[in-house]
Amino acid sequence: MNQYAVIAVNLAPIRGTFHYSIPDHLASLVGPGYLVTAPFGKRRVQGIVVGLDDRAPVPEVRPLEDLVDPKPVLTENQLRLAEWMQHETASALIDCLTLMLPAGLSRQADALYELTGSPGNPPAPTERRLVQLLRRRGPLRGRQITRALGKLDWSRAAQTLVRRGVLDRRSILDPPRIHPRIVRTARLAKPPDELAAALDEIGRTPSTLRRRTKMVEMLVAEREPIDVTWLYAESGGNLADLRYMEAMGLISLGQAEVWRDPLESVEFVPSEPPELTRQQLAAWQPIERAIQSKQAHTAFLLHGVTGSGKTEIYLRAVETALAAGRQAIVLVPEIALTPQTIRRFLARFPGGVGLVHSQLSEGERYDTWRRAREGQLSVVVGPRSALFSPLPNPGLIVVDESHDDSYKEASRSPRYHARETAVAYAKLAGAICLMGSATPDVVTFRRAQQGAFDLLTLPNRILGHTERLRRQAERLRVASRYQAEEAQAKSIALPEVRVVDMRVELKAGNTSLFSRTLHRALADVLQRSQQAILFLNRRGQSTYVFCRDCGWVARCPRCQTPLTHHQDQEALVCHHCGYTRRPPHACPQCESRRVRHFGAGTQRVVAELERTFPKASVLRWDADSTRTKGAHEVILSHFAAHRADFLVGTQMVAKGLDLPLVTLVGVISADTGLNLPDYRAGERTFQVLTQVAGRAGRGLLGGRVILQTYLPDHYVLRSAAHHDYGGFFEAELENRRRLGYPPFTRLARFVFHDLTSAHAERRAKVWAELLKARMQRHDRQAALIGPVPCFYAKLGGEYRWQVILRALHPVEILPDEFPERCDVDIDPVSLL
Ligand code: ADP
Ligand code: ZN
Ligand code: ZN
Repeated sequence: MNQYAVIAVNLAPIRGTFHYSIPDHLASLVGPGYLVTAPFGKRRVQGIVVGLDDRAPVPEVRPLEDLVDPKPVLTENQLRLAEWMQHETASALIDCLTLMLPAGLSRQADALYELTGSPGNPPAPTERRLVQLLRRRGPLRGRQITRALGKLDWSRAAQTLVRRGVLDRRSILDPPRIHPRIVRTARLAKPPDELAAALDEIGRTPSTLRRRTKMVEMLVAEREPIDVTWLYAESGGNLADLRYMEAMGLISLGQAEVWRDPLESVEFVPSEPPELTRQQLAAWQPIERAIQSKQAHTAFLLHGVTGSGKTEIYLRAVETALAAGRQAIVLVPEIALTPQTIRRFLARFPGGVGLVHSQLSEGERYDTWRRAREGQLSVVVGPRSALFSPLPNPGLIVVDESHDDSYKEASRSPRYHARETAVAYAKLAGAICLMGSATPDVVTFRRAQQGAFDLLTLPNRILGHTERLRRQAERLRVASRYQAEEAQAKSIALPEVRVVDMRVELKAGNTSLFSRTLHRALADVLQRSQQAILFLNRRGQSTYVFCRDCGWVARCPRCQTPLTHHQDQEALVCHHCGYTRRPPHACPQCESRRVRHFGAGTQRVVAELERTFPKASVLRWDADSTRTKGAHEVILSHFAAHRADFLVGTQMVAKGLDLPLVTLVGVISADTGLNLPDYRAGERTFQVLTQVAGRAGRGLLGGRVILQTYLPDHYVLRSAAHHDYGGFFEAELENRRRLGYPPFTRLARFVFHDLTSAHAERRAKVWAELLKARMQRHDRQAALIGPVPCFYAKLGGEYRWQVILRALHPVEILPDEFPERCDVDIDPVSLL
């Protein structure tokens, strides 16, 4: 006898579950996963039914009000996943539940009104109009009624009629109006030869004139309507410029587009699956068996270098899951940065793929969510949030680039890791989880070694599909240097990597950002009309102090952590133990006076590049140049179309690009990220170096990589230079064991933020004391780090202090309640 519904409500700061009785009219209609409305105090709230109960813990129980939607908004598996997340991430259940609902879901709610009787008493005028309307048109939604009755306030009349039993009112989710994704375009409104006369009048100041002329020139060259973002990027102009010229009758603005693929014209994507190579086959067979057997869940870790054919395996796996009548989720780090992968999924499963990405509007998101729930989508592709699409029966979850930190939600609760959550979800749903990476994170690889995941390996790089290479050869007018090894695939060695010691450069009198080796290589690329990518590690810049002559780095004498330079205090601070000292004037190792903190932004690299190679055209790809919507696509398609010789960028250039003309990848300072005070600094640097290195030599022209560094002997650089994941892993694991970091322990991080540093510090200390007492009782092996100021000691105007708990099972040490303004992060991926 289930009489009560247990409901999680979202009414901060109240965040528990509450019992409600189920009124007769909902008796058999409500169950776990339904979105309902209920009275709460004097208010009406929305909540999610998480279960049914035959008794209530309190005597006074109020009834539920209504269903927002006649169908559940969460599947059984999602409810169980939310409970798992609540425990794993030490967060509130309602936060985990709402994560799975599309934003603005409640705004999509409306009510359906239906006539059920006739008004006995003479109705008031508004009531009469409402009844007439419903009699004429049948049941209507609130929004339809508003449209029909115009300004008339009919809701009070409707309430009266509902009370009198004349009207029936039911909540429903409105089907969304589909807005295709559109972009603004511009084109010439006059033939080019009629423009000349007007050009002098399109601006008053020289700079305006220059900007707008540039825009017109581009439009003349392109002829077709083009995306305005392109115009902005090339000319430095904006919408006001375009509007001005539109008013003059020179150009016209329009709208166009759906999903745009920046590499569409450049890349051939076979939509038929190719024959697998022998190595792929060996990796594929166990996956295929697991998907087809439909029994126990299995998680696979597919370890394969960039270009080894992992994506091809994902595509097969999706195909097999669909053939078994189930659906698939494919997680990728970021859609805008992985267009080639997206495109292959779209080509292989036409019409069945739903894309989830950050540029979708609320309505579009809701639509994808709804189609997933109705079973209309067989594959959902997207970043971490795509994991929560309400697919009725997922059979496969792919996590591409599974080491990527973007899978971790770091900014708000629940701070979950999509990779871990995917493994748990697959287990709940009886599905297969397939994680793939060229550089698996240390914890995952260790777990695979210990048998928690099935480890599969693809050691060789595939140059590409023979057909794609044939077209490439034709377009580049080169003869193919490679023979097909197996049916449709050609294989290729990984690119040669050169490590350049920047200390030697300096001794030789070269103070530029580019070593002589890199300089020569860049000149060579230009001369052959090929392309180069220059990578700059944004993380960890200008924060640590080191010697440009001998490579010495200022470290904490107590714990060896690199010290952080704080400009405001002219001090070096250890973010591990709080040790502070003044910056040195000379290097303690070689007495050189060239000790300083390092810092070269992309702008500086671009400037130096332009000065050194005045004929070259340079594109910049970083957070600054991609702030506008669609900017990623623009830069990428520019570069792919060889409108620039050099691409200078930060982490973004490291992602899945495969451009045949890129024959050189240069890393300006390969060790920058290594000196961050974070236990994952080495791992992250190895991953990003391997990734950028993977961008070179993927085409017929071959290619090479140049790593500039002050620490040529560091194990991370050595293993990156030799494409040696195994070597890196062993050395890194040994470090972690020595220092007691994951995978040998787990961490829980608590960040206290406050308006003054003293307040944050005080609260962090109180918390640390409380934790110490609990450690005494629960786990004497556990240890605390801190309280110390965070590396990013001030963010968003607030000061930050942190406490880190290190234990085998940190969650078990924690109390149920956490202090206010304290961010709790279990298994943080960064301690900065
Ligand atoms: P990864 O995902 O490991 O980077 P991909 O699956 O993208 O590797 O494969 C690299 C290239 O080789 C792609 O262009 C892909 O189309 C091609 N390729 C992969 N497997 C085969 C195969 N069995 N036969 C022919 N071409 C293949
Ligand atoms: Zn020195
Ligand atoms: Zn220290």
